[in-house]
Amino acid sequence: MNEHIASPLLSVPSLYVVATPLGNLRDLSPRARDTLAAVDVVAAEDTRHSQKLLDAFGIRARRLLAVHRHNEQQAAGQVIEWLAQGRHVALITDAGTPAISDPGARLVARVREAGYTVSPVPGACAAAAALSVAGIVEGGFRFIGFLPAKAASRRTALMALTSERDAMVFYEAPHRVMMCVADMAEVFGSGREILIARELTKLHEEIAMMPLMDAGAWFDADANRARGEFVLIVRGAEASERIDAAALRVLGLLLDELPLRTAVRLAAEITGAPRKGLYAHALERGR
Ligand code: SAM
Repeated sequence: MNEHIASPLLSVPSLYVVATPLGNLRDLSPRARDTLAAVDVVAAEDTRHSQKLLDAFGIRARRLLAVHRHNEQQAAGQVIEWLAQGRHVALITDAGTPAISDPGARLVARVREAGYTVSPVPGACAAAAALSVAGIVEGGFRFIGFLPAKAASRRTALMALTSERDAMVFYEAPHRVMMCVADMAEVFGSGREILIARELTKLHEEIAMMPLMDAGAWFDADANRARGEFVLIVRGAEASERIDAAALRVLGLLLDELPLRTAVRLAAEITGAPRKGLYAHALERGR
């Protein structure tokens, strides 16, 4: 623990990547608060949204800069200029940790390339919060974030994950969550377990673990359940669902000579690997 550090700012001009609450304001750490109050500029995804957070803590930002997906490169130039003048800059997004399915990564990369210090002020992150209550005992996890919005692309993306052995962490928007979960049941198989983490840290927080086959009924049981913000965690594939390198090699050879469906059928017969998974790999290969 570094309790001896009195000032929240480093001795050299720096960019601080500051996590903000997902919903519950008390999740803003004391260090985040001190950093936001001390820096010369707060770069924010949506300045109006962030102004409310700053107001709630009585923080008067000296200057606010909007940094969103469409102006990140330009904003990076401005931030680097300020750093060159010896100023300190904090980056925040609307909720959680910047650069995690949020703007920030480009800015961070540019600032580091320019030779300035980038320092994290860690805190809330929806993926980490959901993982912390998932009880995934074995294996690691793979952060996927948002799947493609269009149904066909979403299915293709899911198919490419059928053999993933680690738990997969997804972010999903409320208007797509039920369709997404239905696709997951179809692609991964309805017996796979899913953790649905809804409205984390907020008044209507709900966390439920179930086989994918039960997820539709879970949503249907209460119309409010399809509202709000979601993290979905799907368990990784069991050994029996995975496709090993030998099966992939057989599939590859067959795909060189035969139409996709025939190649997949034969590869499944020859290797004993699951047809659905082979099909997914065949589609991926053809992309
Ligand atoms: N940077 C953020 C983080 O650290 O988690 C994520 C930003 S991303 C634009 C927004 C997505 O994060 C939402 O669509 C949802 O999937 C997830 N999320 C954010 N807040 C959440 C909450 N309170 N409960 C569940 N999921 C949340």
